[in-house]
Amino acid sequence: MPNKKCPTCGKKYSGLESYCTKCGIQLVKDENRCSENKTELCRHRIFDDEDIYCCYCGSLTTYAAEKQNK
Ligand SMILES: [Zn+2]
Ligand SMILES: [Zn+2]
Repeated sequence: MPNKKCPTCGKKYSGLESYCTKCGIQLVKDENRCSENKTELCRHRIFDDEDIYCCYCGSLTTYAAEKQNK
């Protein structure tokens, strides 16, 4: 399932959309990955929003790391 989001407003899309319905900005791939990239596999893995830890090395996902910083 493709995960994309608007770089301007942060609205998320998971379908075939290419542009944000609010801003008309081209969507970018959601970067919810491993925050440490300790293994080769980490780099290519996209996690769900509910995933907190990387399944390959046990580090926080970028989404969870972002949440902790707030
Ligand atoms: Zn937008
Ligand atoms: Zn990892």
